[in-house]
Amino acid sequence: MKRLIALGLTITLGFSSICALVLSDSRNRDRDQARKAAVNIVATISSDVARNFELYSLSLESVVDGLNLPGLMNLSPKVRQMILFDRAASAKDMGSIFTLNKLGNVVLDSRTETPRGDNFASRDFFKVHQGVASAGVFVSTPWRMADGQYVIAISRRLSDANGDFIGVVAGTLRLDYFKKLFQRLEIDPTSSLILTREDGTIIMRAPYKAELVGRDVSASSVFKRISEMPEGTFEMNAGLDGVKRMYVYQRIGELPLIISFGQSLETIYASWWREARIIGLLMLGLCATNVALIVFLARALKRRAKAEHDFAVMATIDSLTGLCNRRRFDEAIDLEWRRALRRRQPVAMLMIDADKFKNFNDQFGHQAGDVALKALADCIAGGARRAGDLCGRFGGEEFAVLLPETTAGEAMVVAEAIQARVASLRALQNGRPDSTPTLSIGAACLVPRAGLEPRDLIRSADGALYQAKAAGRNRCVAVAPQRAEADYMAA
Ligand code: GH3
Ligand code: MG
Ligand code: MG
Repeated sequence: MKRLIALGLTITLGFSSICALVLSDSRNRDRDQARKAAVNIVATISSDVARNFELYSLSLESVVDGLNLPGLMNLSPKVRQMILFDRAASAKDMGSIFTLNKLGNVVLDSRTETPRGDNFASRDFFKVHQGVASAGVFVSTPWRMADGQYVIAISRRLSDANGDFIGVVAGTLRLDYFKKLFQRLEIDPTSSLILTREDGTIIMRAPYKAELVGRDVSASSVFKRISEMPEGTFEMNAGLDGVKRMYVYQRIGELPLIISFGQSLETIYASWWREARIIGLLMLGLCATNVALIVFLARALKRRAKAEHDFAVMATIDSLTGLCNRRRFDEAIDLEWRRALRRRQPVAMLMIDADKFKNFNDQFGHQAGDVALKALADCIAGGARRAGDLCGRFGGEEFAVLLPETTAGEAMVVAEAIQARVASLRALQNGRPDSTPTLSIGAACLVPRAGLEPRDLIRSADGALYQAKAAGRNRCVAVAPQRAEADYMAA
């Protein structure tokens, strides 16, 4: 039974372990796939943005080169426009390219030969170049144009021959460029694709949220993590919406821009959860079947064990009297004999026979004889009640009682007790013609030793019984104590 439960548990644990392994494997696979897809998205955006910025940078460079041409300002505005801003037309989503003097006033504008007199002295890109000579290509924070469009400026410093600040050349780029670029990727609503400046200002986000453009997220734990390394992958709760995401990010070339793609774990593991639920249900079903099978088998085993036990009991019991049968008695006498031999203790035996039972049968019939035999058996069992005493039907109307660790004297006490029970039964039946017959009992006792066998004890008890019969029946006779018993008593 324990083995069956252990087997059931092993099978259940085995199933569970296999399912857990399969599920963990598929979860890892889903995460890897999501990470690879995110890396691809980030790389695609990064290379597109880097290529376009290179074009913008080249356009600005061509303006710088043009400005150095001698006599440029003496040319007609139309020719000057052509020389300075011709290459700028190739850059997609570019707004206007303009130059600022050292006061921030627009001097030249690619869109018009007569600039309107705008001033950008307060813009970050002007201040940066004014203050630092080594700012290189600078990407500004986004701002809103008069037409409602968000733009950023990409700018370079203009210096004279001595390296002194003389102005800025800048080009505006509509954020629509990033918007369209991001939209092509069809980002799901729970994910977020974000382009930020390295100072944490959001330039674009998909799915698009206008209010997030220009927001400073430098204090968020996600951005802090992103700033630690030029590129990487990590999982974290987003500060903006509290969604837990897997982030993949990288810096875009040498630009002060970072692109990061955060995919919500819910999306990443959506199909895994479906799979897990199905496997979990299957697992539950298997476990339930397993338990049902174990219960069924356990019950079958229990029934079988009971049947075997009943059968074993039946094989050792005499059906008429309920005492043990001859086979069981022979086994027991062998066992007790060996035990007594080891312990050097006596074994006693009573041989019992119903008196004139043939006559009883002849007179009252076989059935009444059976009832009388059962009554006698009860008297015998009632007289030998000590644990270890064994009463058996020896055959026909003969019985035997095995009395381990019992002397001849003690055996006679048991024999007398049996006789007393028969006597009181008969007293109760007084007046009935079919009163239970009397018994003759022969008692014997031996201390087993080499040269003696169980059959010597039986023979000895049988001899005593013969003497009891010969002496007139309805009595107990013990064989004279043998030497062996005398030895035991002396020990
Ligand atoms: P004694 O006092 O010398 O033992 O005389 P007895 O008649 O008892 O001895 P005997 O051996 O001549 O007869 C035994 C009888 O026991 C014969 C048989 O019919 C009867 N007997 C044996 N087994 C059964 C049984 O299972 N049921 C019944 N009713 N009678 C049985
Ligand atoms: Mg008899
Ligand atoms: Mg007999």
